[in-house]
Amino acid sequence: MNYLLPLLSVLFGYLIAISLKPRVKQNLKLLLAFSGSFLLTLTVTHLLPDLYIQHAAGELNIGIFIMIGILFQIILEFFSKGAEHGHVHGHGKMTQMPWLLFISLCIHALLEGFPVGHNKDLAYGIAVHHLPIAIILTTFFIQAELNKTSLFFFMLTFAVMTPLGTFASDTLPVLNQYYTQITAVVIGILFHISSTIIFESSEGHRFNIAKITMIILGIVLAGFL
Ligand SMILES: [Zn+2]
Ligand SMILES: [Zn+2]
Repeated sequence: MNYLLPLLSVLFGYLIAISLKPRVKQNLKLLLAFSGSFLLTLTVTHLLPDLYIQHAAGELNIGIFIMIGILFQIILEFFSKGAEHGHVHGHGKMTQMPWLLFISLCIHALLEGFPVGHNKDLAYGIAVHHLPIAIILTTFFIQAELNKTSLFFFMLTFAVMTPLGTFASDTLPVLNQYYTQITAVVIGILFHISSTIIFESSEGHRFNIAKITMIILGIVLAGFL
């Protein structure tokens, strides 16, 4: 399940986008708002407290590693232009593979896989978070006329990255040794990503009952895990 959920969610998103061709509009915004709130709730109710329970405060500066994660994600977004939180920019036709975006998105997804082995619930969080991203990216690439092989290679690699991170962290002793530090960095990444998703899925800060409902739904559902 840990491996399958994040893998299938991206492939599922890809299939939805190529078969239904949804317009990047209101429904996707709502799905994004839900995913951001779900992910943020999981982070503050599971990941973060678990880390502090295992390591008494002061012994290791967890907070600094969280800030490094936030900073790292901000740097990644210089290259991906925000694809990790469902932000894409139209530049007409795409004649070749968007390598910078691809590599930064893969690093992001790989890192997110690391703590999944110790936190089963995070697999749901990543799956819910990557589903709308996969739909939005695939739709964008189809519109940009990226060739089908590159598109498939892109989404398949993106899908494999998170389970690969989980596998690496379960099998490589080095990664296990630095589990706390790595998880703190990932928490920083998730903080930045999920709050940006919630922020950007709103338009002009108008009160939006549908969006608020999705955010509350995300909190409630993640609260049950
Ligand atoms: Zn953005
Ligand atoms: Zn992600």
